[in-house]
Amino acid sequence: MSAKVWLVGAGPGDPELLTLKAVRALREADVVLIDDLVNTAVLEHCPNARVIAVGKRGGCRSTPQAFIHRLMLRYVRQGKCVVRLKGGDPCIFGRGGEEADWLRERGVDVELVNGITAGLAGATQCGISLTLRGISRGVTLVTAHTQDDSTLNWQALAQSGTTLVVYMGVAKLPEIRENLLAGGMSADMPVAMIENASLPWQRECRSTLASMQRDAAAFELKSPAILVIGAVAAYGQAALDQTLQESARVQAG
Ligand code: SAH
Repeated sequence: MSAKVWLVGAGPGDPELLTLKAVRALREADVVLIDDLVNTAVLEHCPNARVIAVGKRGGCRSTPQAFIHRLMLRYVRQGKCVVRLKGGDPCIFGRGGEEADWLRERGVDVELVNGITAGLAGATQCGISLTLRGISRGVTLVTAHTQDDSTLNWQALAQSGTTLVVYMGVAKLPEIRENLLAGGMSADMPVAMIENASLPWQRECRSTLASMQRDAAAFELKSPAILVIGAVAAYGQAALDQTLQESARVQAG
């Protein structure tokens, strides 16, 4: 097998949401560098590979990016087939592009393999259609977390009329809420907060823009979670259950 680096998306967590191409890459791998959010169940496809945890919760507290770059380069230069396995899709808040460029600049053969990104998986697993016909004409994927001090154009997001899918938002709920309200989004805009999407322990909390911080606290929402903000977040089974419970309460009272 020729030496190369596969930058592979492992999907949101459910091992059955892995692509066939990801499975092929894993079968060919000599070395697998695995991120935190990857479900280790997928490693059944590479029983003979050397597996190295490089995520924040892996061996080291936070493996520096430069170290991961050098590790990939070292193994591929030894003639090994390296799989860099990332949660979701490697190119959605996953540094896939950066890593591919860095390796290609050094003459390494690189192949990127899509994964199902957590935002799309989470919505679908809750029965939310991000582009529900007649309700939403688009989706915007954003992160509330930046390394520099750059800020998002919240007003444009609030007024875009597209469904917002927010990654890495759990610790930023107060800012997200305030900024979207200040940007003109309606206080009763539906919000779905989906924790551990696609895993058997997935949980979802339905709320509104105004109440999301309070509801998330009561629900003890934890990372990893994605937020779906928009009219489409009022759909799906949990929303239906909530409506049925409320009407039962009104009738009983
Ligand atoms: N490349 C990944 C995203 C990495 S950023 C992807 O495409 O999915 C990490 C963030 O992704 C987390 O903070 C969380 O917001 C989201 N995330 C990843 N896995 C998740 C899961 N199973 N359920 C909910 N959110 C998840």
